[in-house]
Amino acid sequence: MSKNTNVSVVHNDFSHLLEEYPIFKAIAEEANVLRFSSYIIGGYVRDLILERESKDIDIVCIGSGIDLATAVAKRLNLKKEVTVFKRFGTAMINYQGLEIEFVGARKESYDPSSRKPAVENGTFEDDLNRRDFTINALAISLNDKNVGELIDKFNGLKDIENKRIVTPLEPDKTFSDDPLRMIRGIRFATQLDFNIAEHTLESIKSNSERIKIVSQERIIDELNKIVLSAKPSIGFKLLDETDLLIKIFPEFVDLKGAEIINGIGHKDNFYHTLQVLDNVAEKSDDLWLRWAAIMHDIGKPATKKFEPNHGWTFHGHEPVGAKMVPRIFKRLRLPTNDKMKFVQKMVALHLRPIALVKDIVSDSAIRRLLFDAGDDIDLLMDLCEADITSKNERKVKQYLENFAKVRIKLKEIEEKDRLRNWEPPISGELIMKTFNLKPSRQVGDIKKAIREAILDGDIPNEYEAAYQFMIEKGGELGLVCQ
Ligand code: ATP
Repeated sequence: MSKNTNVSVVHNDFSHLLEEYPIFKAIAEEANVLRFSSYIIGGYVRDLILERESKDIDIVCIGSGIDLATAVAKRLNLKKEVTVFKRFGTAMINYQGLEIEFVGARKESYDPSSRKPAVENGTFEDDLNRRDFTINALAISLNDKNVGELIDKFNGLKDIENKRIVTPLEPDKTFSDDPLRMIRGIRFATQLDFNIAEHTLESIKSNSERIKIVSQERIIDELNKIVLSAKPSIGFKLLDETDLLIKIFPEFVDLKGAEIINGIGHKDNFYHTLQVLDNVAEKSDDLWLRWAAIMHDIGKPATKKFEPNHGWTFHGHEPVGAKMVPRIFKRLRLPTNDKMKFVQKMVALHLRPIALVKDIVSDSAIRRLLFDAGDDIDLLMDLCEADITSKNERKVKQYLENFAKVRIKLKEIEEKDRLRNWEPPISGELIMKTFNLKPSRQVGDIKKAIREAILDGDIPNEYEAAYQFMIEKGGELGLVCQ
């Protein structure tokens, strides 16, 4: 999470890093032997100044990054090989929990019709010019003549002090060259709680159309970093304001707006969802619970109706929303595995605990929720609590107290009936053996009847009772016990 510290301290001498970290000393000395200039550059330097923990170190050298990495690994007697990415001319080593990437300084030139830049060897200056933001274009020299000196060609230090995201070159060029930088800028603003400079923000707006040339894999990496920030709503509001959100996630933008008919309005589901997301983020770092918060009301626009006697309704928005999840996950390149199933389940069930708030609620309703939510019941309750976004403190208190009672009821029934990860006490095989049946619909019907009887509380969740029930049920169906 972001830690913003006062950076007005003079930060221009980092030579102590070489004493503190043997890795930097090794790089400086080996670069010297190879007669390369070398620098620590980018995010690591930014985070060092901001006192944010960072385990990824980028080293740029004037020469071959692969040669430098190999020499450093040899000097440090690293057992693990250097990972070489020949195609990119980069190499990586792991050392004392740090991931260090080495690259030769490069110059990039972009053809607007192509996604990929032409890359050639360049000067240190060229390498600084291709950086996305001034705060990411800071470097620390590892060279004898000025070891430890901060190189700050674009006043990045000042921008860190002023909490400002601004491009080093003309923003239209920076964003048109690699449009992903627009989302990266918003990601940094969100993570660091910085402002995007006006001119830079306007340029994002006017270049937003170009996000379409960026691969979805790169986009989702940045989007997930926004989702994982301490206050993700900052990023989503900026994505919306710059017209990027409608291009990458139009269903989310569809939640916007508060229509009024006959003087009756409904809440703006976009801002409500962002509040729920921030609420979840305060409690949990779980990326998928955060995605569940983003998606929980996604079915509302499709189910919205104005009923003259009731006002606005969104009947059935939970199953409709749950059905939308796979298509959205696939398009965004989010995983379509059990993580997606978890999000779908949360969307489908997010109103169920509210129904349990009533004073008199049957044990059967609680058993059914435990059965449907399984091990995810606690996360579902977290989502429901985050879904309370009323401004009325009295109401919030009341709702939270209600959910606390639901949690107690859930615990009591769970202890009694153990339904969280329910395994049927009677297997299909036993049913077949008992009534001499082949696999058939009847076997399924009996199994289902046993499950329903347990959930309704007609019989306990135990083998003996379930066996007896099976015999009776078989009798009703005209089956004979073997
Ligand atoms: P984080 O570690 O939080 O992802 P970071 O700034 O280290 O942040 P990386 O993606 O690791 O981000 O990139 C390292 C550095 O490379 C950046 O600080 C920046 O200088 C440069 N960089 C990365 N991606 C781009 C890009 N698309 N355009 C220009 N420069 C970039």
